[in-house]
Amino acid sequence: MYDLYIGIDDTDSRDGMCTTYICSVIIDELKHFGFKVTDYPRLIRLNPFARFKTRGNGALSFKLKLKSQNDMAKVKEIVLKRIEELSELEDEMTNPGIVFYCGQITEKFKSYSLEAIRDILSIEDAERFADEIGAQYFKFKKGRGIIGALAAIGCPNTDRTYELLAYRIPENYGNPRKIDYESVFEMNKSTYPDTFDNVNCDNGYIAIEPHTPCPILYGIRGESPEAVENANKMIKVYEPIEKIAIFETNQHTDMHLIRAHKISDLEQFKCYIIEGEVKNFPYTREGGHVIFILEDDSGEIPCAAYEPTKEFREIVRKLAPGDKLRVYGGIGEKGTLNIEKFEILELAKIFKSQNPLCKCGKRMKSAGSGKGYKCIKCGAKLKDGIKNTFQIKREIKKGLYEVPPSARRHLSKPLVRMN
Ligand code: ATP
Repeated sequence: MYDLYIGIDDTDSRDGMCTTYICSVIIDELKHFGFKVTDYPRLIRLNPFARFKTRGNGALSFKLKLKSQNDMAKVKEIVLKRIEELSELEDEMTNPGIVFYCGQITEKFKSYSLEAIRDILSIEDAERFADEIGAQYFKFKKGRGIIGALAAIGCPNTDRTYELLAYRIPENYGNPRKIDYESVFEMNKSTYPDTFDNVNCDNGYIAIEPHTPCPILYGIRGESPEAVENANKMIKVYEPIEKIAIFETNQHTDMHLIRAHKISDLEQFKCYIIEGEVKNFPYTREGGHVIFILEDDSGEIPCAAYEPTKEFREIVRKLAPGDKLRVYGGIGEKGTLNIEKFEILELAKIFKSQNPLCKCGKRMKSAGSGKGYKCIKCGAKLKDGIKNTFQIKREIKKGLYEVPPSARRHLSKPLVRMN
């Protein structure tokens, strides 16, 4: 008996299909032919800034126990045939890659996967690594999917969560989903925090429902297979479900974040944990995006809470120059550090100064540079008056703050999972 790992990626397009669905179909077929699939299949999220991603940059892998080389040949035949049949090959952006690997998941293999999660790799990087470890790969068209397929096999599972996916019958693809939203809130109420990020209670947003024409009806996220299975029993829908599959994932583990020690080390298309000081009062840019500058001795970077982060922006607006922060986020196309969450380590003392009060009770105006103050109500003058300075009560406390579930990255760890 020996283990065979299979990795699959880049089979879908924005117009349809989903690699998790293809993976489930393949697993069911392999089981039908008597093959033993061990453990849960894995849905591994990779660098959120990878250029050619369709949506959430997910790649899939699963493990089989095989007896002979004949088994291997049959498995390959089934897998490759289904990928060819179900992938959106006519879409220019779809470039499936499949990896077959027998062997240990070594530290080097785990490092390759972490690179795919934290950095940008090329097809050549993946081919070189596959050759080095003796993995066999198959490329359809450009075969870019081998980058993710390899990473999905080697990803460490030191921290993991689970997602249960319910799939629609093909006749319903593209039609509005018929999910009883009330039942989703009820499910959340009775299973949170064993399940999490499935709704956004503050604004009534249902996070389990995709907004694309893909085969997924809904996905429930949670800490364990039991938690998502239990939650699933509470969801009511008014359309048939073709099948249900549970995936082990690296979603909500912060595996994409690199600990950086200085701002000048930060690079575009990577995600970081970085400490620094707020340089200016946050301001709101056109489109409702809230921006401030984070600085340290080495440099500075604009941090952004974009419009989709909704109520989170209110918290960011309360920051002030001198606040010491630990920011968790990634640097995207625009070069800003897109905030996923932040911790206020120290709050700065903020002072405000006002012109002195006149004897008549009115606040005085400046009489001109170096000329003191004058009262526009009673005409009194105060030649040597000075401004009154007082400390302002801060409207925010030290601690951790995060974007709402509707704006959360797949990889981002919600506060309810921290510690
Ligand atoms: P979905 O979430 O709907 O399955 P997706 O967003 O996962 O789609 P894919 O269709 O899988 O997008 O395309 C992502 C492509 O990017 C794949 O070919 C994958 O191999 C590649 N890729 C993944 N991570 C990296 C990376 N770190 N560097 C370069 N390419 C990457």
